[in-house]
Amino acid sequence: MTARVRPYLFYGATQALCSTCLRVVQAKEIIQGNDVFLLKHCPIHGHQRVLLADDAGYWRMARERYLKPPEQVAAPNTPLKYGCPYDCGICPEHEQHGCVAVLEVTDHCNLRCPTCYAASGPDRLTHRPMAVIERMLDRIIANEVEPDIVQISGGEPTTHPEFFAILDACRRRPIRHLMLNTNGLRIATEEGFAERLAAYAPAFEIYLQFDSQRKEPLLALRGADLRDIRRKALDKLNAVNLSTTLVVTVRQGLNDDELGTIIDFAAAQRCVRGVTIQPVQEAGRCDGHDTRTDRLTLTAVRRKILEQTSLFTPADLIPVPCHPDCLAMAYALKIDGKLVPLTGKIDPQVLLDHGRNTIIYEGDAKIRAEVVKAFSTAHSPTSAAGAIHRLLCCLPGFAAQAPLKYDQIFRVIIMRFLDRHDLDLRSVRKSCVHIAHPDGKRIMPFDTFNIFYRDRLEADVLAPLRQETAAAWQQPAVPIPA
Ligand code: SF4
Ligand code: SF4
Repeated sequence: MTARVRPYLFYGATQALCSTCLRVVQAKEIIQGNDVFLLKHCPIHGHQRVLLADDAGYWRMARERYLKPPEQVAAPNTPLKYGCPYDCGICPEHEQHGCVAVLEVTDHCNLRCPTCYAASGPDRLTHRPMAVIERMLDRIIANEVEPDIVQISGGEPTTHPEFFAILDACRRRPIRHLMLNTNGLRIATEEGFAERLAAYAPAFEIYLQFDSQRKEPLLALRGADLRDIRRKALDKLNAVNLSTTLVVTVRQGLNDDELGTIIDFAAAQRCVRGVTIQPVQEAGRCDGHDTRTDRLTLTAVRRKILEQTSLFTPADLIPVPCHPDCLAMAYALKIDGKLVPLTGKIDPQVLLDHGRNTIIYEGDAKIRAEVVKAFSTAHSPTSAAGAIHRLLCCLPGFAAQAPLKYDQIFRVIIMRFLDRHDLDLRSVRKSCVHIAHPDGKRIMPFDTFNIFYRDRLEADVLAPLRQETAAAWQQPAVPIPA
C-alpha cells in the first residue's frame, strides 16, 4: 500500500479562536514550503487557514532559540474559571509580565481614523475621570511594581481636559519610562505645548503616529492628509530634542513600500530614537478590511525592512525573547544621523540571560554593558567589534566612556498584535503588551482586550461564550494560589 503523504510538515497542535464566532477551537501549525499556517476547525464554521509567517526559517528560530523563563507579574488579578482567553487577566496562567502597560485615558479623539482599533473619534466624549485613571495606574503598579514602560494612550490623550494632571499622576509613581501615544495634532498646532511636554524628560518619550510620507496612505489609514501636521510636530519636537518614536501602522499594498524611507528619514531627525512598525490589527473600526486574505505577517514586515534598507542584515533584526511570535527588534548606534547596527554583534544568549525587558534593552545595565563591550577598544582590530570601532573613529575612547546615552541609540521594532484570525492560546499567554482595564481591577493583553474586553465586548460577546463554557464544563473556579 502506498502511504498517503500530506503536503506539509506538522509542527504542533494548539487551540485558537474561530474567526467567526470566537469560540475556542482545535488548531494546528503546519509548515508548507516557506510559509507557516494556522489550520483551525470550528464545528459550526468549518475549516479556516491563516498565514502566520512567510519565512519558516525565522519563525522556527524564534520559537526554538529565543526561549527564556517567563517573568511573572507581582500577583495575578483574576482566577482561572472559564479558561484562556476568557479569564483575562492577568490570570495565573499568563506567562509574561507587561514590558509595556497601556493606560487609555479617553475615548475621545480629534481624528476619526478608519483603522482605529479603539473606534475613537470626535463623537465619543468620554474622558476617564482622574479617580479612575489613578486606580488604573495603581493596578499597573501593583502588577509591575516598577513598570518598565507605561504608555498613555486613548483616543487621543492630549484632548483630555486634565492631561497634565495625568502626566503628574504618572510621575508620582515609580515608572521607569513614560510614553505618550499621540497623533501629534496638539503638538503641531498649540504654541508652547512641545516645550511643556519636554519638561517631563528624561525618561519621557513621544510615540508619534507616522504612517506615511504620502497623501493616499494617510487618507486611507487616517482619513486625513496629515503630512503638514507631522512635519510641524516633528519640527517642534526636534527643537526641544524630546525623545520620539515614529509609529507606522502598515497595511499590505498601501504603505509597506515606505518602511526603508521612513527609517532613513527617522534617523536624520534629531529627536527620533526609533521606528515602531505595527501591521494593522483587525479590531475596532478597522474599515471592514479582511486581514485573512490580506495579512501582513511579522516576517513579511521584517523582509521588507531588509529589502528596503541596506543598513540591516538578517542577524540584526531578531526576535524579542519576551514574545518572539509578535515582536522583533534591531538596535543601532546613531551618530550624526548615521546608523550603525548593533544587534547582530550581541550574543543572543545575553538577551535571554539578562533581559527583563528586551524591548528597551538600553535600560538594562547588563545588556548595556554588553553593547559597550562590543565597541571596546580592547577588541582585536580584526574582530567584528574592532571593525565597528574603526568605523566609529569619530568617537575616540567611546568604549571607555560607559554608559551609552539614550540619544545615541536607535531602535526598529516590529510589533504585531494577534487578532481573531491568528490568536492562538500558546502565543497569547506570552503577550507582554498589556493594558489596564478601566475597572481598575484588571490588566490584560492588548490583543485579547481588543477582541473580548473593550467597551461592550465583554457583555455582548464574551458573556455568552463564558456561559456556554460554564454550562459545558460545570467546573468550579480554581482559586489564585497564595
Ligand atoms: S490571555 Fe493570559 S491573562 Fe488572558 S486568560 Fe489567557 S493566560 Fe490568562
Ligand atoms: S487611531 Fe489614534 S488618532 Fe486615529 S482615531 Fe484612533 S485614537 Fe484617534
